[in-house]
Amino acid sequence: MTTIANNLQAVHQRIASACKAAGRDPSQVRLLAVSKTFAAAAVAQALGAGQREFGENYIQEAVGKVNELAGTPAIWHCIGPIQSNKTRLVAEHFDWAQSVDRLKIAQRLNDQRPAQLAPLQVCIQVNTDGGPTKAGVAPDALAELAHAISELPRLRLRGLMTIPEPAPDFESACALHAPARLLFEQLKMQGLSLDTLSMGMSADLEAAIHAGSTMVRVGTAIFGGRAPMGT
Ligand SMILES: *Cc1c(COP(=O)(O)O)cnc(C)c1O
Repeated sequence: MTTIANNLQAVHQRIASACKAAGRDPSQVRLLAVSKTFAAAAVAQALGAGQREFGENYIQEAVGKVNELAGTPAIWHCIGPIQSNKTRLVAEHFDWAQSVDRLKIAQRLNDQRPAQLAPLQVCIQVNTDGGPTKAGVAPDALAELAHAISELPRLRLRGLMTIPEPAPDFESACALHAPARLLFEQLKMQGLSLDTLSMGMSADLEAAIHAGSTMVRVGTAIFGGRAPMGT
């Protein structure tokens, strides 16, 4: 087996143990392999090992890989910041956009989604830590944004995505993931049909699963360490 195949197996084992500890069904937690900064060849290895869903932060970089791997079963998720001038690339090349945090961006994605493609699957990024400089909609503005996005015909709202601050231990990591779960349940109680709570990364996927994550986004533990950008 390749290193990537071995790493994928190890991550699936971590997910299974975390589900067991939390009394959850492992089929309710999907694995998104975050392939940012890694070449298409690394994604191809993961595809060969059965991985299907891939997350990318840098839109221009991702489009190259999406084109190189056209015809494979890869499913592409945009998980990085989306500026207005990049919405067309996202609408034309991705299956999912998880980092939508403004109605204007959602409307552009809706208008630019090509007619021959399925609706773009969307998660709203929510800033549960309240840091003013962080990406994500503020929790008190979430419900209005979610209902507005759910009306857009070329988008399909699937849930929420969040990136809490790193935590020193399991207990505090669980506490940092809890608010997103609460917001997710509240939106469902308001009648939105959502199935995706995207939270948890290499360092904190156990805590995220404990708190109710349905999709963990794992980069380093699958593909290895990333060189700092710009080197
Ligand atoms: C890079 C990234 C990840 C993966 O992080 P790792 O620590 O490498 O697992 C997950 N989500 C987002 C939004 C990211 O930017």
